[in-house]
Amino acid sequence: MDQGLAGDFSMLRGEPPIKFLTKANRMEREGRDVVRFEIGQPDFDSPENVKEAAKKALDEGFTNYVPTTGIPELKEAIQEDIEKTRGFRPSKEQIMVLPGAKPGLFFGLLATIQQGDEVIYQNPFYFTYDSMIGYLGAKKVQIPLHEEDQFRMTPEQIKERVTEDTEVILLNTPQNPTGSVLTEDDVKTIAEIAEENDIYVLSDEIYSKMLYDGLEHHSPSYLDRCEERTIMIDGFSKAYSMTGWRLGYVVAPEDIIHKMDLLLADAVSCTTSFVQKGGVEALKNSQDFVDHIMGHFAERRDAIVSGLNEVPGFSCIEPKGAFYAFPNVKETGMESEELADYLLEEAGVCLLPGTAFGSQGKGYLRLSYATSLEEIEKGIDRLKEAMAEVV
Ligand code: PLP
Repeated sequence: MDQGLAGDFSMLRGEPPIKFLTKANRMEREGRDVVRFEIGQPDFDSPENVKEAAKKALDEGFTNYVPTTGIPELKEAIQEDIEKTRGFRPSKEQIMVLPGAKPGLFFGLLATIQQGDEVIYQNPFYFTYDSMIGYLGAKKVQIPLHEEDQFRMTPEQIKERVTEDTEVILLNTPQNPTGSVLTEDDVKTIAEIAEENDIYVLSDEIYSKMLYDGLEHHSPSYLDRCEERTIMIDGFSKAYSMTGWRLGYVVAPEDIIHKMDLLLADAVSCTTSFVQKGGVEALKNSQDFVDHIMGHFAERRDAIVSGLNEVPGFSCIEPKGAFYAFPNVKETGMESEELADYLLEEAGVCLLPGTAFGSQGKGYLRLSYATSLEEIEKGIDRLKEAMAEVV
């Protein structure tokens, strides 16, 4: 039988992370205690007021189809939030509500690229980028990130790679998997390069509210207010601990939103009605929840970074945003994948090889510290013990 789809399935990169997650689940079912550092979702319950708002919407029968681009009330809340956090107020026609940030990436790429166009993005990357760019038949132009640059993609690296065929620069700050954060200068210069060369910027800002050390988030949208070329993606999954709700949004030029509107109408009709009411509550009311979880994440970051630096053969720079640590394990002499396998089997610690996020992840591991301080301490003790045996 034919494959049946236009894209090439071998381009999809979800398998390595799923392999570790599935194995850890199996070990747990068999009675092993596994410390889980592989999962990229906050371990907090969603905010109580948000749950109440969604429940109320359900009780009131708010259960029908709603407009494909989102309910007006949520668009208004997004307008206000963007004004506060990015300094401009997009029109409602520039906003598209989606079932998560991920569809924003997929539909955003579908709305902008043709087969053969070049897309510039970072390596290591959030694996969805690589999957989608490859699957859609675009040309992958990867920028290697270096630990010496705190894993930041530099504007110079972008300049060197821009060609006539560059259609999109994909930005992600704060970044998954390294936790790196672009500076204001970096972001401004990248936005200017995009303008000079008439290139779209697909800016994945899902961790925009998750920064440490008093750092501020900078968005390339400052230059065009998402009217010309910036397609800004944000959502509720991470900062509001709402991964399972599936709620995100895009702010983009109106013609791009129109294309995404058509795509979403065919693909899913609309984003779940009562979930959107939860989103209104999350943005409109107190942001104490976000502050509260960020207080915990800051403590966890400090604990995991200092702990990892005590593990034989490991060294780890401080992530500045999101909730991922990306330790260098080159001194162990083991390959990332082999090491991740060893640590899962021998130490009962599940983490991901850096290579799950691209070739530049060779010699690194990714640990998500979206777990309790107790689990972090237990995991670090196990890593120290397991590595003392092989280094
Ligand atoms: N973008 C990045 C960089 C992520 O790390 C993730 C989730 O891990 C997403 C997007 C997906 O977000 P959502 O769950 O809202 O689709």
